[in-house]
Amino acid sequence: MIPTAFEYFRPANLSEALALLEQYKDEAKLLAGGHSLIPLMKLRLAQPQYVIDLGGVKELSYIRESGDHLLIGAMTRHVDVETSDVLRQRCPLLAETARRIGDVQVRNMGTIGGSLAHADPAADYPAAILALGAELRAVSTRGERWIRAEDFFVDMLTTALQPGEILVEVKVPTLGPRTGTAYVKVAQKASGFALCGVAVVLTVDPNGVCQDVAVGITGVAPKAYRARAVEDALRGRVVDASAIANASEKATEGIDPLEDLHASAEYRAHLARVWCRRAIEQARERV
Ligand SMILES: Cc1cc2nc3c(=O)[nH]c(=O)nc-3n(C[C@H](O)[C@H](O)[C@H](O)COP(=O)(O)OP(=O)(O)OC[C@H]3O[C@@H](n4cnc5c(N)ncnc54)[C@H](O)[C@@H]3O)c2cc1C
Repeated sequence: MIPTAFEYFRPANLSEALALLEQYKDEAKLLAGGHSLIPLMKLRLAQPQYVIDLGGVKELSYIRESGDHLLIGAMTRHVDVETSDVLRQRCPLLAETARRIGDVQVRNMGTIGGSLAHADPAADYPAAILALGAELRAVSTRGERWIRAEDFFVDMLTTALQPGEILVEVKVPTLGPRTGTAYVKVAQKASGFALCGVAVVLTVDPNGVCQDVAVGITGVAPKAYRARAVEDALRGRVVDASAIANASEKATEGIDPLEDLHASAEYRAHLARVWCRRAIEQARERV
């Protein structure tokens, strides 16, 4: 398929990109890695009149430390998240999640900002971003604001970004003491997208009691979600096999699992329970 005709812009910096977005408003689409937008344009499910390519906005591609947080520019490609030494050491969950995205070509082109802004219900990053309690910085010609990960994902393919806003940065905390993390996933065979992906951040005290836990689940519902019932069942308890198994049974509590040609709702709920247990077990081993 061939996309409908569009005018192409390649701004050299963020100010130029924001000005173009302000000028063309919802007739324009931002282009990051193009691995979600271009297929949609080829299928004519997206028909922007103007395409604003962020590829020339080099200031949005970085990974840097800032106190007890790490800052990741929106145009940072999956491969750079996967292979970053600082992320592997200070926030291994994000590097592990990036490693599980698609294949080499997808990871070489796709960006963290593009993936989060697209909000595919089967994308991997949202689970990790939720479990990490990340914050996302959005900028427009009117100013900037920080959005909590939990407020960012509104519905399937829908985020809290407003017209004219560009997602510019993701802020994640560094790994604390006595904390283990894990991302596990059942991938759809052809694309690699998650039928079910579970991210866990688990902190235990010296007696093995769960001090804090955060569980993000993707692929199962119209948007990625925090599995609060699992977290509540584990917090304050010794994190042993039976506590993990009991808590994981609540992986889809309050959730309406998706049903499509890849998996029934019942199967997705089953995957969520099983892989939630495995993710917590793995995080526990890594403390
Ligand atoms: C074959 C294949 C397999 C894949 N497998 C997986 C997988 O296993 N797991 C997974 O998570 N993903 C997978 N993907 C998706 C991939 O990760 C994409 O790269 C990602 O979803 C979109 O990122 P992008 O940089 O390509 O964004 P684009 O496609 O360029 O943009 C996506 C959307 O976000 C908007 N946008 C982009 N950047 C910004 C920004 N900074 N601010 C505001 N809006 C913005 C665009 O306007 C567009 O609407 C796969 C894709 C393909 C083609």
